[in-house]
Amino acid sequence: MSIYPSLKLKPGKEKSLERRHPWVFSGALMQEIRQTPEGSVVNVTDVNGRFLACGYVQHGSIAVRVLSFEETAIDADFWEQRIRNSYDMRKALGLCSTEQTNAYRLMHGEGDGIPGLIIDIYAGTAVIQCHSSGIYMQRNLIAEGLKTVLGDQLHAIYDKSAETLHGAVADASNGFLFGEQSEAAVLENGQRFLVDWQGGQKTGFFLDQRENRRLLGQYAKGRSVLNTFAYTGGFSVYALMNGALKVDSVDVSKNAIELLNRNMELNLPGAQNHAAYAEDTFSFFKKSDEQYDIVVLDPPAFAKNIGARHNALMGYKRLNIEGLKKVKKNGLLFTFSCSQVVDSHTFNQTIFSAAIESGRNIRILHRLTQPADHPVNIYHPEGEYLKGLVLWVE
Ligand code: SAH
Repeated sequence: MSIYPSLKLKPGKEKSLERRHPWVFSGALMQEIRQTPEGSVVNVTDVNGRFLACGYVQHGSIAVRVLSFEETAIDADFWEQRIRNSYDMRKALGLCSTEQTNAYRLMHGEGDGIPGLIIDIYAGTAVIQCHSSGIYMQRNLIAEGLKTVLGDQLHAIYDKSAETLHGAVADASNGFLFGEQSEAAVLENGQRFLVDWQGGQKTGFFLDQRENRRLLGQYAKGRSVLNTFAYTGGFSVYALMNGALKVDSVDVSKNAIELLNRNMELNLPGAQNHAAYAEDTFSFFKKSDEQYDIVVLDPPAFAKNIGARHNALMGYKRLNIEGLKKVKKNGLLFTFSCSQVVDSHTFNQTIFSAAIESGRNIRILHRLTQPADHPVNIYHPEGEYLKGLVLWVE
């Protein structure tokens, strides 16, 4: 007998769970989901009581998010196993505590079979972001699992869920679940970056651009680079470390620019060919006529939901029209979108229409996405949220 209450599906609604789709919509259930406490673990069965999946309840249109398709207890052993499974994959990718890279995403929500859970590792500090009350209620077991799997590689666990719960847990506050470490210098492809998970954006660093920053590095030698939406200088550091002639970085956040300057100093003490501007990208574009060999446009998600999609596309178009003006003849544009609701086809069309409007001839050199430690669940294609193009601009 299972320890969890069972929720029955309406007849014929079992197909998607049988195919291992990780969500149960409220309309598929016999009972009203609000009768079951938010965040609690439940079993989902077919109309005859046959077990299909185990997951946690959410009072919304997605009523249950699946944690396991096998009948199991969601306990310390469960979390240890799932964390070990993800860790072994990252180890196979060469991301864990190597000489080159010690910052990686250990858990990527649906992509790793745990909807609602993000865990990033920064040189021995794990930063957890719970996106639902169901996961938040498991956070202490998750922390125990991390300690067991990572052992003495782990120095601290910081829970940074207050922002990502969006009010689902009224009294959630950020804090350490284990140890205490306020900032660390991590290694990424041999470059060094200071990561501030408490004060920084998201979990502290944008690990998803790791491979794309490396690609920019390959093109940087002897070229001038404008890095907009630079955050703490990911693309800028790679550019300078790989011999860029000069790099200008722009970000609206003063804190980000402060850390960016420290990152520059950490990798290239005393470098004179770099300038950082704490200002809005569009106002920076307006005030200078300078053109660069390479321009990077990596804005935050312009659309957080489908309703904002149209305005977001207009935003991307406008940004890319202005960005293209800053690219020298026969230069490169690295342009990105991290909006889940903008798919790659639509993103490409938007960039192409920006190019047409700006009168520049472009060719696609690379189509970019997120790296392998941000895997995509086949039933959750929106999980492939990062899209990028590298364009040759005439
Ligand atoms: N490329 C970065 C990540 C960019 S995240 C990296 O490799 O780490 C997006 C950044 O855009 C954030 O740092 C945010 O502060 C900044 N931002 C948001 N709106 C902006 C604006 N209007 N002008 C300039 N920067 C902006």
